[in-house]
Amino acid sequence: MNHSLNRRTNLSAVERNFRSRIAQLSSGQWFLRGTLSERSGTCGKANCRCARGELHKSLYLVQSQAGKFRQICVPKAWQQRIRQAVNNYRLMQKLIEEVSELEWKRLQEKKR
Ligand SMILES: [Zn+2]
Repeated sequence: MNHSLNRRTNLSAVERNFRSRIAQLSSGQWFLRGTLSERSGTCGKANCRCARGELHKSLYLVQSQAGKFRQICVPKAWQQRIRQAVNNYRLMQKLIEEVSELEWKRLQEKKR
C-alpha cells in the first residue's frame, strides 16, 4: 500500500495552500531559527562617541542549540537578510504545524 502523498490525494484547498507556501519558502528563501536581540554598548575606546553616551547598536542572533544558548553578531550588511530569514523560519514552522494538525485530525477521524 502506498501511503505517500500524490496528486490524487483529496486535500482541502486550505491544506494545499499551506503546503505550497511551505514548498515555496523551503526552496526559494533563506531561513534561520533564533531570536534577534538589539543591544547598545561601548567599544572601549576612550575618545569614541560611545564614551560620551552615544552607544553603538549591535544586532545579535540568539539560538538554543543542543540545550545551550549561543549567539552571533549580525553585521550591518547582513541584517536585512537575517531578519527575513528569521521571519521565514517562524512562518514555515507555523505552516508545518498547521499541516501536522490536519494530519492529526485525519488520524483521529480515521479518514483518508
Ligand atoms: Zn565606541
